[in-house]
Amino acid sequence: MTNVRRRTSKTIPALLMAGVGLVVAGVAGTCGEVKAGRQPVVQSAEPSAPVPSLAQPPLESLDPTPPQVLPAEPSGPAGPFLNRTDEAAASRRKMTLSWAQTGWKLVAAGEYRRAAQVFARATELAPHDASLFVGLGLSQHRLSRDDLAVATLEHALQLDANAGQAHHLLGDIHYARREIRTALRHYETARRLDPNDVMIQDRLLTTRRESRAEAGLHRLFSPHFVVKFQGPTDRHVASAVADRLELTYKTVGSRLAYFPPGSFTVILYSAPQFRHATFIPYWARGLFDGRIHLSLAGMTGGPNVADALLTHEYTHAVVHRLSNGHAPTWLHEGLALYFEGGAKPWGRDYLSRHAWELMPLQSLHGSFLELTPRAARIAYAESYGAATALIHRYGLVRVRELLAALAATPDFPSTFEKVLQDRYDEFDATWVRARAEQRF
Ligand SMILES: [Zn+2]
Repeated sequence: MTNVRRRTSKTIPALLMAGVGLVVAGVAGTCGEVKAGRQPVVQSAEPSAPVPSLAQPPLESLDPTPPQVLPAEPSGPAGPFLNRTDEAAASRRKMTLSWAQTGWKLVAAGEYRRAAQVFARATELAPHDASLFVGLGLSQHRLSRDDLAVATLEHALQLDANAGQAHHLLGDIHYARREIRTALRHYETARRLDPNDVMIQDRLLTTRRESRAEAGLHRLFSPHFVVKFQGPTDRHVASAVADRLELTYKTVGSRLAYFPPGSFTVILYSAPQFRHATFIPYWARGLFDGRIHLSLAGMTGGPNVADALLTHEYTHAVVHRLSNGHAPTWLHEGLALYFEGGAKPWGRDYLSRHAWELMPLQSLHGSFLELTPRAARIAYAESYGAATALIHRYGLVRVRELLAALAATPDFPSTFEKVLQDRYDEFDATWVRARAEQRF
């Protein structure tokens, strides 16, 4: 991932900032890969919060019971009240600092749900402290509650327009939503506030390049897709792509009982432009990174090839939308192959011939981009076999429930167990193996 991002950042690095899905041709028929669509990670988003030198409440004590709310400061006469007022204010400050410190510790530990609870309590004690809202917004963002996160972070900016970390986070959220102009505005403010932050400089550069690269594209709108293309001569291809995608929207939607609202963005490239823009392996014809990127070369192999390619990429888009980018790569790819319907090269014969080379599914959660063509082929075959086993064992409705649950709880093994009532490692050892051994 690191290598890919560094290499890609020389051209259009933003392509890999969100999830990435490839459509493979040649090596892999018309299948592809997804580098699980996670939100960009903001390691530096944690502000240098005040760290009080106070004893912290132990984490175990963070039950849902709100901390004692101290009385509001009285506005009565000075005198005997003054000391009590000062004491109350000092206690409130101490408690706020204590909650804040605990919140940042929970963020550092990846306990975002509890962190959000703690920051929410702290904001009740200190409703004018922007840094607490930044902590709350960051926790909400990590929990994929971006609508809440945007509102919280914008409130932080109302309290303190110079809260650079709020601008940084809002830039990331708007970038992931492809709201490039708004993202640029926040990144530019964040850089003005902290000119030495290398990560912000990198994000700003990436976003500006992407904004320029797309500035000259033509657009074609259909009910559920915006197709961007290079020149007027490609308009008829763009129109055909939009028509086919609308059909795919209905077919995949009927099978999954899921018709996502809003629209998806599709970008068409010539073959050389596709290589230059995506920097993905030679065998790929498509890619999903939050938007669908397609090589025109993939549209010229006949209607069946084009439909398989479009269905594959659209499935990535649906899986990404349902799971909020938290589905592991094997599930992304396996479902994309399953829905495209042309996965004969990935059938059980191939899988059984390579049964001894199967890897634990846990090792197929990350990108397939760096795999050799041979390893990639096996990884795709195993992904297809595992997705087929999953559907055979639990049915598409529950697979969809699993994806939806991942949106709120990204930890795959625990969500798998909670939704499907089976252990993930047992499913891997039993069902995927049974599929490879052609037992069903
Ligand atoms: Zn794919």
